[in-house]
Amino acid sequence: MPDRDLEDLYRAILLDHYRNPRRRGRLDGEGVVSADGANPLCGDEITVDLRLDSQGRVVEATFEGTGCSISQASASLMMEYVEGGSAERAQAGVATFQEMMTSGEAPADFGDIEALAGVARFPVRVKCASLGWKTLEQALQVAGRGETRAAGRVTTDERSSGDE
Ligand code: ZN
Repeated sequence: MPDRDLEDLYRAILLDHYRNPRRRGRLDGEGVVSADGANPLCGDEITVDLRLDSQGRVVEATFEGTGCSISQASASLMMEYVEGGSAERAQAGVATFQEMMTSGEAPADFGDIEALAGVARFPVRVKCASLGWKTLEQALQVAGRGETRAAGRVTTDERSSGDE
């Protein structure tokens, strides 16, 4: 259980990323893959753009989005994490994040993303925090298929996935 000071620190990290999102914007041109995600429960929306080089490295990663502070701060933290690393590392990050949302335990070497570990206690907020990561996963799958854009939107509400 995090102590009070740690919770304050985590809150400050999330607020900073919400107010000053990193890697915000859109990419276009060669090697760019895109995916859109939505969390209908909260009204959060995220678009992820990745530019991959021929080695499968994520040389640029940006997002656009609207929604609650948890969804936007999570996407901002995520983009910092994936930019400059391999697509495999980004995919592994998605799995690590999902584990953290299940266990509530922050893994080692996850940097400031551990500030979101406490969200695991609030299932509705887990959908907010996970939106960016689900959208990232979709973008990586698009890249794996050699395509540039996902056909539909990924949604945190499994019942309606595949709509649109
Ligand atoms: Zn939300």
